Amino acid sequence: MTKLLDGKQVAGMLREELNNEIAALKEQGTEPQLAVLLVGEDPASLAYANFLEKVSSKAGVLFTLHQLSQQASELEIKLKIEDLNTDDKVHGILLMMPLPPHVNKQRVMEVVSPLKDVDGLHPFNRGHLISGGVCLQPATPMSCLEIMKRSGISLTGKHMVIVGRGETVGKPLVFMALAENATVTVCHSRTVDLPSYTRQADIVVAAVGKPGLITADMIKPGAVVVDAGISEVNGQIVGDVDFERVKEVAGAITPVPGGVGSLTTVLMLKNLVKGIKLQQQAREWEV
Ligand code: NAP
Repeated sequence: MTKLLDGKQVAGMLREELNNEIAALKEQGTEPQLAVLLVGEDPASLAYANFLEKVSSKAGVLFTLHQLSQQASELEIKLKIEDLNTDDKVHGILLMMPLPPHVNKQRVMEVVSPLKDVDGLHPFNRGHLISGGVCLQPATPMSCLEIMKRSGISLTGKHMVIVGRGETVGKPLVFMALAENATVTVCHSRTVDLPSYTRQADIVVAAVGKPGLITADMIKPGAVVVDAGISEVNGQIVGDVDFERVKEVAGAITPVPGGVGSLTTVLMLKNLVKGIKLQQQAREWEV
């Protein structure tokens, strides 16, 4: 029978761990604080910031929203980030996207202190992710792995086919899955004969953003299917996988919604806690 990989259940386990970690930090006198920087008034970013505020306060994390106008210069944004970098009470910085078109996203992102980069996007963290060093990792590929690991699925020796090589999900996942001893194949829009690759996979991870891309005939019977894709169709959130048909073939599968996406916020807050520990270590090494 197909196993449903329940993101909400796994998120519950992670939240319990997070609550304990935050309680321990507070006992030591550290009040974890997440700072969100929003440039402009993009409604989706504002809605996400409001959601993060609720989730943070539930977890006992102090949340501060810092807003700059849409017209703010690149220098103003960088100076604001520098302020947050040097504020010892701020432990994590989340730079909301999109940034205004006159701003160079990469240059601005590189100003965020790597140890406060809860999104795991800074080149320092990306470099350590590739080389296997300790770093803050991006939440969505982490969710793809956690939902399997916490459901008792080992990656060791498995052939994982990742569909999508985007910077947010597919590409970082390659290195994270290699670190878990999976054998990894990466497919993308120029891959010729995508089904010939997915049919060989023990695990298929879809990270594209194209509803219905992964169909039942592309899946080896019994394989694990993890759907990270998110699209809106007729007001409904859907993934990349034809869930109803693929679940008849797969051994285990994540739903959308209620799968990978359910874990991302809690994993981002776990990054905040990990960042606090790395910041404490860095201070000890300075002495
Ligand atoms: P992205 O940067 O747009 O990358 C999409 C990838 O899909 C690209 O590598 C592209 O190939 C590939 N692709 C496009 N059409 C394809 C096709 N027909 N066959 C095979 N590959 C194809 O996306 P992303 O930022 O990595 O995000 C991927 C998905 O995850 C999106 O749906 C996004 O909304 C979702 N997401 C979910 C969460 C969550 O919390 N669950 C968080 C972040 C993102 P090329 O490289 O050749 O163009």
